[in-house]
Amino acid sequence: MSTEPVLQIRDLEAWYGESHVLHGMEFDVRAGEVVALIGRNGAGKTTTLRAITGIVKKRAGSVKIDGTEAIKLRSDKIAKLGLGYVPEERGIFATLSVRENLLLPPAVKPNGMTEAQIYELFPRLQERARSQGTKLSGGEQQMLAIARVLRTGARLLLLDEPSEGLAPVIVQHIGRIICSLRDQGFTIVLVEQNFRFAATCADRFVVVEHGKVVDQVASADMDAKSGELAAYLGV
Ligand code: ATP
Repeated sequence: MSTEPVLQIRDLEAWYGESHVLHGMEFDVRAGEVVALIGRNGAGKTTTLRAITGIVKKRAGSVKIDGTEAIKLRSDKIAKLGLGYVPEERGIFATLSVRENLLLPPAVKPNGMTEAQIYELFPRLQERARSQGTKLSGGEQQMLAIARVLRTGARLLLLDEPSEGLAPVIVQHIGRIICSLRDQGFTIVLVEQNFRFAATCADRFVVVEHGKVVDQVASADMDAKSGELAAYLGV
């Protein structure tokens, strides 16, 4: 079995114009892992995801996806390596129905989930299939945003704050879905402010401060290190 990580980040730098935001990010994600990026507001977590996807264009260093160097590739080519990105704002098309939103993105790899498989995982989306994007609750929007990337065949998923703005019961539901995706062999990188939520299925926490990784904690060591983690998050 290959021990090469699905995602390998080395010396990753990124800029918005002249503003230098990532300063040598480094971490690995192995197949089937759930890794949560945590850290204070403005630490550079979202920018890390956006630099991996190629949405932030001014970047340097190395981002390898399944061993392929992606740092110089355009975002459409990076997606074809099997990467699916769910941004914080979810990106649901308001005037399209749930089903239209679901069927819109092109496949990036073969063997994406079928519509039937999506509805099995998200029965609520089947009930809402004909509803317009504008009519969806926050939780339904988040489910749809995740479902859309599952349709594309992506196996490495980047999820930016999937719990944000959702009621606690819905947060738990989304957490169960993420754990179930991990059990189905997806590899997942989450950005999360909600530490409890992240802890439900993260195998490892990567702590980001000032655009770089300052610590990594396996979930097995969480209890012992909870004080340090709380300090990093300023809580
Ligand atoms: P948050 O949870 O607040 O989003 P974060 O850790 O995800 O925090 P980023 O959104 O990656 O942080 O932001 C890192 C830094 O980059 C911050 O100083 C932020 O102000 C800046 N930044 C983010 N987006 C842009 C942008 N589009 N243009 C310029 N600067 C930006």
